[in-house]
Amino acid sequence: MPEKLRLSYTKMDFYITCPKRYYYRYVEKKPYYPSYKTKFGSNLHRALKNVTEIIKSKGAIDNESQKELFEKQWSDVSKDKDKNQQLKNKGELQLKLFSETNLTAIQNTLFIEKSFSCKLDNITLCGYIDRVDVIKDKYVEIIDYKTGNLRILYPDDLQLNFYALICRDFLDLIPAKLSLYFLKTNEKLSVNVENQCIDMTKSLILNVSEKILSNYYIPTEHPLDHCPECCYNKICPDFIKLIN
Ligand code: SF4
Repeated sequence: MPEKLRLSYTKMDFYITCPKRYYYRYVEKKPYYPSYKTKFGSNLHRALKNVTEIIKSKGAIDNESQKELFEKQWSDVSKDKDKNQQLKNKGELQLKLFSETNLTAIQNTLFIEKSFSCKLDNITLCGYIDRVDVIKDKYVEIIDYKTGNLRILYPDDLQLNFYALICRDFLDLIPAKLSLYFLKTNEKLSVNVENQCIDMTKSLILNVSEKILSNYYIPTEHPLDHCPECCYNKICPDFIKLIN
């Protein structure tokens, strides 16, 4: 069967949140306007990658280089100058706390922003894994950076299990630990890997891809929960019908 779909975790999340939203973004390719939070996260992720690479090769990073590096990676997230500066200061501080805390751990880092493109049946799974650290031999910890608020991490976390599937079935590694690193509070939450959660994620991926390949884009049961924040709510007939 010819390859028909490239599916990343982000695309899958779009589809699960609301298939119609996926349709606007990836099928009709309507312009997508990321929020200031998303832009802030992208700036910080780029800086984290650079800082991690330097710590990994040199064992440390001095404050001046870190500041310069952050400056280079920063692009404005808001037209409001004060808000922009406030967020920039926050980002710089978060980066500093991160590097101070992770000097030792980064020595075990195997991948930083690891890109992947792997065939699963008739689809291709693609994307980036923020970080993979070696625990011992082939046993690894998969880490995803979060710039939002602290939340509970469950063993069936979809994003982390998506990446665990890549590590287990395509990179010849044994995922043992899944972690979310909350940069706002400089805290890492971890759970042990459960292989049945990876298998369930694989089934979900195949299920979602089947629906996408059959052009099923009907809004899910409670799309309205997501409508107020959806950047397509002004053009979406389902939402317009509902509010009128
Ligand atoms: S406005 Fe609501 S129903 Fe329409 S695409 Fe967005 S989330 Fe889906």
